Amino acid sequence: MKRFTDTFKDVGRRKQLIQILKEKGITDSNVLDAINTIPRHFFVDTVFDAKAYDDVALQIGAEQTISQPYTVAFQTQLLNIQRGHKVLEVGTGSVYQATVLAHIGARVFTIERQKKLFYENKNFIFKNKYPNLKFFYGDGFAGLPTFAPFDKVIITAAAPFIPPKLMEQLKVAGVMVIPVDEGENQRMLRITKNEDGTYEEEKFELFSFVPMLTGKSD
Ligand code: SAH
Repeated sequence: MKRFTDTFKDVGRRKQLIQILKEKGITDSNVLDAINTIPRHFFVDTVFDAKAYDDVALQIGAEQTISQPYTVAFQTQLLNIQRGHKVLEVGTGSVYQATVLAHIGARVFTIERQKKLFYENKNFIFKNKYPNLKFFYGDGFAGLPTFAPFDKVIITAAAPFIPPKLMEQLKVAGVMVIPVDEGENQRMLRITKNEDGTYEEEKFELFSFVPMLTGKSD
């Protein structure tokens, strides 16, 4: 069950979270504004209500998690979203990250491999508010060739490697933000595609994601 009322207390809890994100180094005002506006407690079960604005990942069922707010903020900041950018997201999960991207004005194409989560997403609370957010059931390793090329690609599960098909679907000078396995954790990488198909790679800190798995699941 979810609670879809946004109280003064919730607004205050978001303000405190914004403070924490700023202290951790998030500076992008579009990102901070999105997180300050979107009620994160709408995306988690009421059993986690008390923790909805803590800077932690939370369970969303089907053995998956809603990413930690800092992780969402960090990945979104690295993407440098401009209004109208076409963005491919792998791992819809709770739809929270996708909502942050849509709020900033991206045209979001988000893929989820788990049928249960995909169907839950159909009843997404903000579906009328964000018509620029589209849901797909499929394998993120394959991407969405029909809608390519994308300005930006974001992977929200631990990738074993940089998926070649997603590189193909990225525009020249486009950017992919992807956590790639490095021992027990993942190194956050920002990949920028060159004209000749090669790419530049910037390395950031380590994060901890659920695994990016191959194929669809019922
Ligand atoms: N962005 C989500 C994070 C969800 S956790 C949020 O804001 O809540 C990662 C999600 O990636 C899970 O829902 C998992 O089922 C999904 N996933 C893992 N491998 C995938 C793949 N190959 N294609 C699409 N989704 C995948």
